[in-house]
Amino acid sequence: MRLARVLRRALKGGAGHGEGGRWPPFPVAHGRFDQKNEVFKRGHWDPEIIPHSERFHELVYRDRPGYTKLEYSLQAASWNMEDAFGYEEATGSPLALYSWTPQEGQPQHCASTGPPVREAPERMSRVIKKAARLYGADLVGITRVHDSWVYSHSYSKFSGTHSPLELPEGCDTAVVMAFAMDFDALHTSPTAVAGAGTGVGYSRMAFTANLLATFIRGLGYKAVPCGNDTALSIPLAMSAGLGEMSRMGLLITEKYGPRVRLCKVFTNLPLATDSYHPFGATEFCLVCKTCARHCPSQAITDGGMTTEGPDLSSHHGPMKWYVDGVRCYAYWARNRMDCSVCIRVCPFNKEEGRLHDAVRAAVRWMPALDPLIVRGDRALGYERALRVRDYWEDPSRPVCSDADLTSEETETPKAAPKSAASF
Ligand code: SF4
Ligand code: SF4
Repeated sequence: MRLARVLRRALKGGAGHGEGGRWPPFPVAHGRFDQKNEVFKRGHWDPEIIPHSERFHELVYRDRPGYTKLEYSLQAASWNMEDAFGYEEATGSPLALYSWTPQEGQPQHCASTGPPVREAPERMSRVIKKAARLYGADLVGITRVHDSWVYSHSYSKFSGTHSPLELPEGCDTAVVMAFAMDFDALHTSPTAVAGAGTGVGYSRMAFTANLLATFIRGLGYKAVPCGNDTALSIPLAMSAGLGEMSRMGLLITEKYGPRVRLCKVFTNLPLATDSYHPFGATEFCLVCKTCARHCPSQAITDGGMTTEGPDLSSHHGPMKWYVDGVRCYAYWARNRMDCSVCIRVCPFNKEEGRLHDAVRAAVRWMPALDPLIVRGDRALGYERALRVRDYWEDPSRPVCSDADLTSEETETPKAAPKSAASF
């Protein structure tokens, strides 16, 4: 497999990306992104987005599987580690999981006694990755940090505070972690069961980022744990070798496809870094377009890449597919629940198995087969969803159409697809 990777990179002209090669390994935006312009933050200050935010957050139970009090409770509980314990401004405590402040107690004792632990960067990287997996990460990579990936400003949805953002001096390395979301739960998207799968991902991010940062502080170094805040997770994850960018604007990993959540820990601990490893996903997106066909808000373009997104929520510059975050969020508001239909239908979102491994190998080695693989995926019904009652009751998992699940209270407006935001 290792030989295969080397050969593929050589064939794609990608050999030498990362350490010792061209860096950054893919085009980046020229300026830094202001977190205030991220679409969820705009829901707190932008009159265009506030109505979507209010409707999205208004709890309305419906007599429909996936949208009852049972499923809304499941979803609300899944977010609790992030919502109740994640951020200092939410908890009112420096003990918040994403706090930049070292905490009291035994970890702080380790941090303040004895000299810093010193190891060769290669060995320390292995230690850090082992620890990250122990604490709960499914995938781990390490990268240098490009200045344009760090937000220019942070924006607090709790207080409205908008402040210039700089990482602590020397924290120019990031440990990036991915967390696989539950396959069955996500297969009910866009219901609240899928929302619970997403929420569990966020709670695991907060838990694991905190533990890893506390470990690094205990070794005698600085560590800043982050969820979606502080910096753009997708280019960091790509540079750390976790995956590729996609038409739907999310990271695609080789093992889990786009069915992951991401967090990161910035540190000044000397670590060996990983390299960008394209495996054919972006190339596959050129012919696939399945997410664009299924997106209920037409937020995903079925056209070509551009260097400009649709509005201020886009981090313009790099040639890529820009997803329209406003259209996407407007659908979440109509659905009164978040959506991951694009993740659900993506051909890379597959459970483990020999057949799927063989298809992944074909995508990597034989891109000429991509159109055939897309047709096969559709013919075999992989795009279809899982009924909520089958999620609860039936492990054999019969499937249904999107229309059987969606719970929009108004019609989806029919408009021409356009593109938008994100890394
Ligand atoms: S989350 Fe749903 S609405 Fe948003 S881009 Fe994906 S499929 Fe479209
Ligand atoms: S559904 Fe297809 S086009 Fe969309 S991200 Fe996945 S592979 Fe790419």
